[in-house]
Amino acid sequence: MRTSEIAKRFLTYFQKQGHLVEPSASLISSDPSILFTIAGMVPFIPYLMGEQTPPATRVTSNQKCVRTLDIDEVGKTTRHGTFFQMLGNFSFGDYFKEEAIHYAWTLLTTPQEQGGYGFDPEKMWVTTYTDDEEARSIWKNEGFDPEHMQIFGMEDNFWTTGGPGPGGPCSEIYVDRGPEFGKDGGPAADDNRFIEVWNLVFESFQVDNVKSKTDLHIAGELEHKNIDTGAGLERLAYLLQGKQNIYETDEVFPVIEAAGKLSGHVYGKDEESDVRMRVVADHVRSALMIMSDGVRPSNVGRGYVLRRLLRRTVRSMRMLGVTEPVLPSLFPVSKDAMAASYPELNNTFAEVSESAYGEEDAFRRTLENGTTILDVAINKAKQDENSLVSGQDAFTLHDTYGFPIELTLEMAQEQGVKVDETRFRELMAEQKTRARADALKKRHNVDLSVYDDLKKELEQPIEFLGYSDFSSRARVI
Ligand code: ATP
Ligand code: MG
Ligand code: MG
Ligand code: MG
Repeated sequence: MRTSEIAKRFLTYFQKQGHLVEPSASLISSDPSILFTIAGMVPFIPYLMGEQTPPATRVTSNQKCVRTLDIDEVGKTTRHGTFFQMLGNFSFGDYFKEEAIHYAWTLLTTPQEQGGYGFDPEKMWVTTYTDDEEARSIWKNEGFDPEHMQIFGMEDNFWTTGGPGPGGPCSEIYVDRGPEFGKDGGPAADDNRFIEVWNLVFESFQVDNVKSKTDLHIAGELEHKNIDTGAGLERLAYLLQGKQNIYETDEVFPVIEAAGKLSGHVYGKDEESDVRMRVVADHVRSALMIMSDGVRPSNVGRGYVLRRLLRRTVRSMRMLGVTEPVLPSLFPVSKDAMAASYPELNNTFAEVSESAYGEEDAFRRTLENGTTILDVAINKAKQDENSLVSGQDAFTLHDTYGFPIELTLEMAQEQGVKVDETRFRELMAEQKTRARADALKKRHNVDLSVYDDLKKELEQPIEFLGYSDFSSRARVI
């Protein structure tokens, strides 16, 4: 079953259960404190909170999502993409736990010939929240095997956005991939064998003062009890397509093939190069989708996340041995793989690709300028007993060659050496003090540099603040 067909089945099923099909919202939320849309519920927060009237009390969608927090997992786990699609059904004060569980279970286990996904009920597991006896008894009434049910605490089975907003206990559904993928014992034992596919959130509380996953304050009950569910489309796809991971599904794999063709690596032969090709395929797709929603590379906020995705793509291809430009060969492949589901990609592709290719050219120049100097510094470090690239070398790379510190850190790490970051920061601070003194002279001894600092701070890259993948709040680092 192709990914687009899996999505269609979901929306059709819920439409038949009286849900209004809502198109995906942009990856760029209208709330500037939210970096990217991280879950299907994000566009519906005002309805969940009772602040706005929804177009219908039952809604279903296939929402484009980006989770930068998952970036380090990409290519290594079988199930994390920086971009992915979240299928969901929502009830705004309409049905609650019983129907939510019944619908999910029915769709997952109805045979494919009858419009479902046809998962084997014996391979399914569910988790529920400590206090949620009600959910457990509903699952049992559905005929679910109590031996395949596990109970978790706040950390895993209480959902919030990572900031103030709606929240509630949840019940998650897992598929057992079989003993060849890990040890028995359900999701608690092995998250590579037991794959989380669907999260049913019983949104009934107003949450605030979220300090961590387990340290938050419940301000009260929501006006209505709501249902918010999220099923990972790529996860359903790889399980249903009999693939090993989300990167091998029909909307992603063509880029792996293109990366293989460019680099001469055969996918499936060597784990290290396979991970690199998966990173490339993931990042190219995320960059394409983010740019198609209007973001362009920059040094701040969303533009900075995009810049890092594009740069990591270029560097991963270099590590696969390709030094010529790669995006002109990879971007169109990703666009073609995604355009069946998102035909609008074609409308902006000329402009999007031009910007992406320009970014690659600029990055290639940076690499050309600094790589030899960094190589010398790394070789020096290898001879040093502490295996440390000096702070001075890192500073020179930054100051003279425009090599961002995180690039130096990343490239040093690949070679098994560290960077004297403390000294680097000291040199940066000294430079700042010098610049301030110069500015003071120029401004006739009136110190306005505090405004420069403020300006710089406001222009800093933004990173997720929250404690979990759900986190959508941004902060300045
Ligand atoms: P995991 O524990 O595997 O990281 P999660 O608990 O963070 O997943 P939820 O926030 O519950 O995920 O999101 C709902 C669903 O979205 C998940 O059950 C999963 O199917 C899917 N999903 C979440 N994160 C990703 C991702 N990075 N890539 C692909 N699918 C994802
Ligand atoms: Mg989880
Ligand atoms: Mg989850
Ligand atoms: Mg997660």
